[in-house]
Amino acid sequence: MRYLAPGSLKEALDILRREDDARCIAGGATLVAMMNADLVAVDVLVGLGRIAELSGITETDDEVRIGATTRHAEIAASPVLTGALGVVRSAAGQIAHPAVRNMGTIGGSICHADPAADFPAALLAADATIEAASAEGTRQIPIGEFFEDYFETALREGEIVTAIRLPRGPAGARGHHVKFSRVDGDYATVSVSAVLVMAGATCSYARIALGSSGPVPIRVTAAEEALVGSPLDQAAIAEAARLLAEAADPVDDVRGTTEYRLMLIPRLLARALNTLKDGETASV
Ligand SMILES: Cc1cc2nc3c(=O)[nH]c(=O)nc-3n(C[C@H](O)[C@H](O)[C@H](O)COP(=O)(O)OP(=O)(O)OC[C@H]3O[C@@H](n4cnc5c(N)ncnc54)[C@H](O)[C@@H]3O)c2cc1C
Repeated sequence: MRYLAPGSLKEALDILRREDDARCIAGGATLVAMMNADLVAVDVLVGLGRIAELSGITETDDEVRIGATTRHAEIAASPVLTGALGVVRSAAGQIAHPAVRNMGTIGGSICHADPAADFPAALLAADATIEAASAEGTRQIPIGEFFEDYFETALREGEIVTAIRLPRGPAGARGHHVKFSRVDGDYATVSVSAVLVMAGATCSYARIALGSSGPVPIRVTAAEEALVGSPLDQAAIAEAARLLAEAADPVDDVRGTTEYRLMLIPRLLARALNTLKDGETASV
């Protein structure tokens, strides 16, 4: 196996075009474990860590852009990810433990596309766009089209995720991510990501995504419609949860049975919405 460490995106894309069996490595938190377990064999590893243009968080009036190799820890501490984008910051802070958060990158997380991961649902709730580059050029992939199946994405051969673009969201929006895991630091048994706007006591905007509840993160517009116009009372939350659970297709595995996961959905939804409604994440 060869390890190449290009200094620019162009150089990395040229390597991917030229080499038959080349694969990117970002934080290595997942890929190295898979290689050690003989689940993946790679001829050429293309390290992304030296490519400065892939890292960091920048903002304009309209959006926040997170470079693909930005570490979870930096995202969890970012003062830029406020309002609606608190959902992404909150998800980053709940990934595993500090050692993994200091190593793993947001690009690596979404390219691995583990349905139990925290970013997929948070990015769906935040209405993200994934920017991907290849030797042929750059394209923008709406988050709803990025995850295709268990561990499968819309990325094509030779493409590198360069950034995650986050629109600022509606005025007054707040976002939050909640997860239930068996022990602290584990992947989610179920997670809920929510972005809300409250107009007084009434919900005027809701964007909700379920994680760890099927092969890809789940968003149900009818569930959001059940919340909008309501005071987020028990009846509205129960109806939204019913619609979300209907769309869920959770597995039966070591983190919980299908039945248990379905039971968690209304509880986690209520927890996320009540936290946002009470304004507890206003400063996040
Ligand atoms: C002990 C442990 C606990 C964890 N717990 C959680 C958890 O609770 N929640 C959670 O969400 N995650 C969890 N993770 C996963 C962690 O968040 C990893 O960061 C993530 O899975 C992979 O990120 P990485 O940067 O290390 O990617 P790598 O391991 O370097 O790469 C992963 C995959 O993505 C590809 N890739 C990487 N970057 C790019 C790119 N820019 N463009 C194209 N392809 C790319 C690689 O080729 C590889 O296929 C855990 C991991 C460990 C080891």
